[in-house]
Amino acid sequence: MNQPLLSIRDLSVSADGNTILEGLSLDIAPGEVHAIMGPNGSGKSTLSRALIGDESYDITAGTVRFDNHDLLALSIEERAQRGVFLSFQYPISIPGVSNAQFLKASVNQIREARGLEPLDAIDMLDQAKDAFRRVGLKEEFISRPVNDGFSGGEKKRNELAQMLLMKPRLVILDEIDSGLDIDALRIVADCVSSLKQDGTSFLIITHYQRLLSYVPPERVHILMNGHIERSGDAQLAMDIEAQGYQHPTPA
Ligand code: ADP
Ligand code: MG
Repeated sequence: MNQPLLSIRDLSVSADGNTILEGLSLDIAPGEVHAIMGPNGSGKSTLSRALIGDESYDITAGTVRFDNHDLLALSIEERAQRGVFLSFQYPISIPGVSNAQFLKASVNQIREARGLEPLDAIDMLDQAKDAFRRVGLKEEFISRPVNDGFSGGEKKRNELAQMLLMKPRLVILDEIDSGLDIDALRIVADCVSSLKQDGTSFLIITHYQRLLSYVPPERVHILMNGHIERSGDAQLAMDIEAQGYQHPTPA
């Protein structure tokens, strides 16, 4: 493979003294889409949170290189500034902060870290209008408090709008497809394809093959027993959906 953008080696992660991930390794090259499937409680969200630097998780062994830097040595903010973006399985609301304020602050922090001029309010609003239109949220959502009172589907669309505006290099989508209808899945696929064309890499955590039929993954990985138990091409996701995790197809 090309020089990987993300390279995870023998990663072990625990929370509250319990080991959740143990010896997990994974490489993702620039512009590649990788899917992770795995039973409930196998540690998929733990992996995504450990990668963004959530301090409730302890890294007890292993290394993570991102763009040839030691990702684990960076703060949560530095990881975001360098282009790691997580769309949460359960997006949090921020009642006192409008989407506009949140997006302007986040986008400008990232721009500053990349040596770019900050966007002024007008440019920011133009870009936000475009992003919200693409994800199918009305313009009035730009001035609403982040995710506050949003429906499940609106929260997921709001995460996608953030993703489009922040132009990340690595996107982790943690079950973005749960509870989304077909139209919304198509929007996810459009957003992923357009960023992928610009070289963004994706780690898509999902239970369903359905999203992957819209967003063809280069690789599919099964997370079980704390590590990547099996990897394959898109067919593996179809086999898992048909047979479940306990019935591995012979290689
Ligand atoms: P998945 O996303 O694959 O369903 P999770 O990563 O959410 O799995 O959880 C994996 C396991 O780790 C579960 O048993 C869960 O209870 C536990 N776990 C996750 N986060 C924490 C935490 N912050 N503190 C303690 N246990 C946790
Ligand atoms: Mg999860």
